[in-house]
Amino acid sequence: MIQELDGLPHEILAACAREAVAAARAQAERGDPVDPDDVIGDAKQRAAAIGAALLRPVLNATGVLIHTNLGRAPVAEDALDAARQVAAGYSNLEYRLDTGERGSRHEHAGALLAQACGAEAGLVVNNNAAAVLLALAALARGREVVVSRGELVEIGGGFRVPEIMAESGCRLVEVGTTNRTRRADYVEAIGPETALVLKVHASNYRMVGFVETTPVSELVTLGPPVMVDAGSGLLDESTPWLPRRPSWLRDEPGVRQAVEAGAALVTFSGDKLLGGPQAGILAGRADLIGSVARHPLARATRADKMTLAALQAVAFSYLSGDATGIPLWRMATGSVDDLSARAEVIAAGVPGGKVVDTEAVAGGGALPGLTIPSAGVGVDAPGPSGERLLARLREHGVVARLEDDTVVCDLRTIDPLDDTNLAEALRTACAS
Ligand SMILES: *Cc1c(COP(=O)(O)O)cnc(C)c1O
Repeated sequence: MIQELDGLPHEILAACAREAVAAARAQAERGDPVDPDDVIGDAKQRAAAIGAALLRPVLNATGVLIHTNLGRAPVAEDALDAARQVAAGYSNLEYRLDTGERGSRHEHAGALLAQACGAEAGLVVNNNAAAVLLALAALARGREVVVSRGELVEIGGGFRVPEIMAESGCRLVEVGTTNRTRRADYVEAIGPETALVLKVHASNYRMVGFVETTPVSELVTLGPPVMVDAGSGLLDESTPWLPRRPSWLRDEPGVRQAVEAGAALVTFSGDKLLGGPQAGILAGRADLIGSVARHPLARATRADKMTLAALQAVAFSYLSGDATGIPLWRMATGSVDDLSARAEVIAAGVPGGKVVDTEAVAGGGALPGLTIPSAGVGVDAPGPSGERLLARLREHGVVARLEDDTVVCDLRTIDPLDDTNLAEALRTACAS
């Protein structure tokens, strides 16, 4: 799977050769003999290192469904087709075919996603971090935003609620304590300067014990508009697009439920539990979406046509009531028996391979502490041999994990079409 030298442009290969020759010259000047074969080998190694660092597909055998380092949710075939069709030529991105007038790029995917979660209007931007920043800047710059101390979270990758708030130019008003924030705490903090009450879904950690939070349905009785950063983008808590609601979703809040509870604006990611491309979606009251869309930052954070085309297809999947074509949900809901059966076939071709029970996770900050029963292929690799086997698998584009002296390839995050590739990589890696 690793790209060979012949795939690299001549300019890059020539640069590698020049660097190898320069290194050899320096070596010769120090009085060390130089073997021409070593210089060629050095140039090849430099080129191989560049090839290995190129953006490429990998097999995610970690069992982490929304693995941020591995590109989060895989995008569905129909969404990719839609993106390809729109991007390969011209489109009505900002053009109304019926009147021949200028249109808006927010009229397609944004509106459909809003419909899919029961909101009046929607807007798509680059990612959820941008959505939060933009909403705060557009609706609360120079004014106060009230947030519970238990929700001043860091999501990862530099997204910290207090910092985003500072960047957006609004003033953070902290209320309550880390573990308990009651309605009365909000009431005390709200005044004429309050622009928004913000609720942030603590996506990547779980608080247990002596805990109290105030639900959206109570926050909306306070007066100011309530904005919810839902993060993961589970469109509807009851997952009507699936035959059965997965039990591991437990109490993950849905976008639709936040809207129904009266939230004025909800923001969420496109590539977490929505299962689409990287994007940030704002859904909510039409007047607020309008204000946000007119803000200069909306122009700076806008989504591109490929993302919008793909999201339009994703919205269609949800609106059709069957989102099992979305890879994330297909992978998340596959039966353990099926995964075990696949694991058995793969393990049979791998020296020392065996079927193991595993625990997959949602990842991407969604559903911390909750695991999804899964199955995979395990290879015993005691001591340092475990890390070595993981490294060899990475050379074949497979990212696996180590569990108590066993290298585990979780099949929940592997497309069945990739089973033979995974088997081949495991065979080669175990043999060397
Ligand atoms: C993931 C997440 C973000 C950031 O979303 P990106 O799409 O990664 O920019 C913000 N807030 C919450 C609550 C999140 O879970």
